[in-house]
Amino acid sequence: MIYPIVPYGDPVLRKVAKPIKLGSIDLIKLSEDMFETMYAASGVGLAAPQIGMDIRLFVVDGRPMNEDEDEEEKDPSLVNFKKVFVNATILDETGEEWGFEEGCLSIPGVRGEVFRPEYVKIHYWDEHGEEHEDVFEGFAARIIQHEYDHIEGILFTDHLNVVKKRMIKSKLGEISRGKVSVDYKMKLSR
Ligand SMILES: [Zn+2]
Repeated sequence: MIYPIVPYGDPVLRKVAKPIKLGSIDLIKLSEDMFETMYAASGVGLAAPQIGMDIRLFVVDGRPMNEDEDEEEKDPSLVNFKKVFVNATILDETGEEWGFEEGCLSIPGVRGEVFRPEYVKIHYWDEHGEEHEDVFEGFAARIIQHEYDHIEGILFTDHLNVVKKRMIKSKLGEISRGKVSVDYKMKLSR
């Protein structure tokens, strides 16, 4: 099932999402639906608030980012990087901060450089209820950091510098008024 994606301006994107009581919802079905929704929009990560649910769940699949790259350009962190993160807590972020032009399915047409630390240590459960503590790096870490922000009510645009923030202000206003043109389903109520 493909969910409509919630756009910038919807209050659900600004909530600190609630922990999930394991066993209370069908995480396998919900994460499958989130993957389907994400693939339909050509995304590499999707957090539950982006489909209107304020729960601590996000899915990632960074493998498509490697598909068009030459062998030596492929990011090793993205090999087999398809995962579900339930009730995640970032324990540590280390390494040098590096910049990358991020985008977001909830903020179509806007991109901007965000600096994030290279490594992330994270504790989480998967969709089968198994507990994990792992360290990710490179693009895998970045995707996790972006999605983790979503369950904390933070958007990548919050991290942009003042000048860039000013530049995208009117565009953000348009999105929150429902003025968007995308080739995937969005929840445009206004
Ligand atoms: Zn996003």
